[in-house]
Amino acid sequence: MTSAVSRGRASLRDVALYYSRNAAAVDLSDNTNRWGVPPAAAAALRGAHRAMRYPEPYAQSLKEVIAEYLDVDANCVTTGCGSDGVLDSAIRAFADAGDRIAIAQPTFPMTEVFARVNGLVPLSIPLTDGYDLDVEGMLAGAPRLAYVCAPNNPTGTCVTRARIEALARGLDGVLIVDEAYADFAESSCLDLARSQPNVLVVRTMSKAFGLAGARVGFAVGQAALVREVEKSRGPFRVSVSGAAAATAALRHDLPWVRSRAMDAIAVRERLIRELQVRGLTPLPSAANFVFVPVAGAMALAKVMEANGVSVRAFRGLAPVSPALAASNGEALRITCAPWPEIELALAALDAARAEAACT
Ligand SMILES: *Cc1c(COP(=O)(O)O)cnc(C)c1O
Repeated sequence: MTSAVSRGRASLRDVALYYSRNAAAVDLSDNTNRWGVPPAAAAALRGAHRAMRYPEPYAQSLKEVIAEYLDVDANCVTTGCGSDGVLDSAIRAFADAGDRIAIAQPTFPMTEVFARVNGLVPLSIPLTDGYDLDVEGMLAGAPRLAYVCAPNNPTGTCVTRARIEALARGLDGVLIVDEAYADFAESSCLDLARSQPNVLVVRTMSKAFGLAGARVGFAVGQAALVREVEKSRGPFRVSVSGAAAATAALRHDLPWVRSRAMDAIAVRERLIRELQVRGLTPLPSAANFVFVPVAGAMALAKVMEANGVSVRAFRGLAPVSPALAASNGEALRITCAPWPEIELALAALDAARAEAACT
């Protein structure tokens, strides 16, 4: 029998633990930087000697470096333990338990988890069949919060700017724009975070900046908005080594980061062509990964993993487009990497499809 203690809070009942990964040697499953850790950040991680002391409570020095990087005021910046930490804090800052959050789906699954953990009611609003925002749908439940990921994980697509603006205007609450992949895209909503009182743009050091293990994320919004997120966040959320790595990366590694992002974009376009040559229908991508709806994706990924390459497989995605309807909501997401790794991935995919065709 489950005791009252081990059963936990009611709102945790539908929350699962994050899947534990057992990735193959060529791991193209999580959109991290396959070119590595940028050099100044790597040196800073080796030299983080002050770990016997607490970090700055609100990472003030790091906020100043981020502010300079983005050309905003430091009191318009908040930080966290990854952008996961920032999203969790922001969700808690602007909604009470029982409030609704509209989430444009399919998207990054952790947002719904943070919503539930904080007692919110997530409303899943499907993207349109062109992977754009259904603004009316997002507003229909009078949510206190709305979440849009742009470029979107896992589809790689971007919603149109006009619809993001319309959502921000129509919302009686806060719009969170997750820009984890903005470094690979042509546009950003940073300017909206400056000009609109209810827009928070969230970024991460985990993807283009090659520092997923350092766990540093940040967000930009007007000072009054950011202040609430800081309260909800609490002190000491960025470690001494995380702050050191992120600071070094933003001060010294920008040319490295930009150059690797350009490499990822070139690989992305070449990978899309290779998938098309195989008769598949990958979506256009503004991120460092390619999303390809394909029936049997779970089985394909399993065979690919046995052949040494991990990619992310999805099933049960909302059939928001004809391609996703045709694949029964199944798809593969492949992280861009140095081309020799993509060649291994394509060979593993070919082998997996050949095997599937035989059974
Ligand atoms: C990877 C990812 C994150 C999480 O990044 P961390 O900063 O490592 O917590 C947030 N949002 C999206 C859309 C992501 O893909």
